[in-house]
Parts: sequence; C-alpha cells; structure tokens
Amino acid sequence: MRFGAYVYEPEKAEGFDFHVLRVKQETGKRITPVQDMNSNIAVFADNVAAQKNKNWISQSLLGPAQFGNYKYNIYWDMVCATQPEHRAEQIKYIEEVDRQSPGIWLNSQYFADHGHCTCPRCKKLWKKSGLGWLEWRRKEITGYISQIREHVKKELVMCIQPDPITAYERYGVDFDDLAKYADAFNVVMLSKSYATPWYWEMLSRGFKKILKKPVYISLYVSCPGDSPKDVPPPTELLNTSVRCARTGIDGILYFATGAKKLLDFQKGVVNNFELRRRLRSYGGHPVQEVLDLVNNWEQLIQ
Ligand SMILES: [Zn+2]
Repeated sequence: MRFGAYVYEPEKAEGFDFHVLRVKQETGKRITPVQDMNSNIAVFADNVAAQKNKNWISQSLLGPAQFGNYKYNIYWDMVCATQPEHRAEQIKYIEEVDRQSPGIWLNSQYFADHGHCTCPRCKKLWKKSGLGWLEWRRKEITGYISQIREHVKKELVMCIQPDPITAYERYGVDFDDLAKYADAFNVVMLSKSYATPWYWEMLSRGFKKILKKPVYISLYVSCPGDSPKDVPPPTELLNTSVRCARTGIDGILYFATGAKKLLDFQKGVVNNFELRRRLRSYGGHPVQEVLDLVNNWEQLIQ
C-alpha cells in the first residue's frame, strides 16, 4: 500500500509516500504547482468561471448546479460539462500543470449530478447524437477524459464520488471507460465522522471489486476553517484506515489543510497505544502496513 498527504497548502508533510496538492479548488482558486507534489484539479466545479459566465452554469429541471440549490448535494457552482470554452481552457491548464508536477488528479470531471445538464446546448447535442439521454452523457464524459489523456504525459488519476452504484446515472461516469485512460482511481470518502467504520470498509471493498485500476481512498483529517470539534478524532481515522486497508485497496490519502494539521493527526494516532495494539489482530499484511506507517510516525513527534 501507499500512503499520501492530500493538502491545500504547498508544503510537504513528513511521513507519507507521496503528496497531492489542491492546485485548483472547486472555488476556482488556483495556486502554483509544486514539482514534487501531484496536482489536484477540480474541472467543472469552478465558482470563478461560473460567476464570470452565469450562462455556463449547469442546468436541470431541479434548478441550476449552484451552491444553495438544496435539491442536490452541491456546495459550489458547476459549469456545464459540455461548455466548449471551459473545456478547452481546462485542457490547456491541465497540460501546463502536468509539465510542472509529477501527476494530475482530477475532481469533478463529470456532470454535476442526475438530471444535468438541460441547457440549450446540451439538449441540442443530445438530440443530434441519436443516443439515449444517459448514453449521451456517458459519451460526453468519456470523450472529454480521452482528450485530457492526450495532454497528460505523466500520471493521471480519476477522483470519484463514493457512489459505486449510480455514477452512470448521476454523473455520466462509466468506471470501465475511465479505467482505459486513468492510471488509478481515488475514491474521495470525506466525512467529518468515521464513527461507523463498517460503511467505509464496505465501500472500499465494493470499489476494489469493480474498478479496473489501482484504488486509493481519501479520508478527512481537516479543511480550512474547521474548528477542533468539526473534525474526526484520530482514533476513528486509524480504525477506519485499518478496516479499509484489509479490503485490498492500494492506498490511503489523508485530506487536510496542510502539514501542520497532518502532524496533529499523526501525534493523535501515535499516542493511542491501546488502539494500535488492539488493531494488530484486525487482519493480515495490509493492516500491518497501516500500523507500520504509524510506527514510522513515532520519530516525527519527538
Ligand atoms: Zn449543458
């Protein structure tokens, strides 16, 4: 297994095998890539592009893909996935970032959610395609990912929502299609609580079964603006890491504001000797790999 730090701030945390930096967030904010950190880019979730071009926002019968439309779980504004200028600009940007860092990890590289997008262009493209609605959406997403692949020379990782069953209906995502172009998947399992590890373990097992490329999962440590009571306790994170590791996934990333928050998490985990001892009996080699990682972290906190 490989363990990664997935962060907002351009500073490498110690004690991880690799690093993913949020170079372009869903807010549209962009920061300079770092040459030894992979670059995470939100493609269609982009408040800046959406606010500058209000007619680019993805549409549906349940309203636009905008923050505040509670008919969907959308926490930012999303550009329509067929918007040609946005698509072209994102490919150019991804190509530039690819030159400056070891890999590209894409977020929101698909439709906003079920029922999107019903803008006049999408309706026209759909009718012209002669395909069913869902198949047309799939073709749009797969086609765009194949174009991106041509411009990414290094590693390309597809971040996906933790929904193993209805990604096709909701996002136009066919996992087998994406596997043809992706080097790996990252299932973003962010939650402010991991109090019931059973669900995360089940999701990991399900994704490992269906995805035809290596599977990473991402667990939530912190986000900018969180207070200490907002974030999952280190003990829940360690317990869930072990439970997910034993499903055969290929790696775990820890999502945090930056290196300092990760160090707080690492300290919290290291100091829980009783849990570390108990978890030894939870599985075979992958469980041991998580516990070895924690053993290595002991040196960081002295
Ligand atoms: Zn549209």
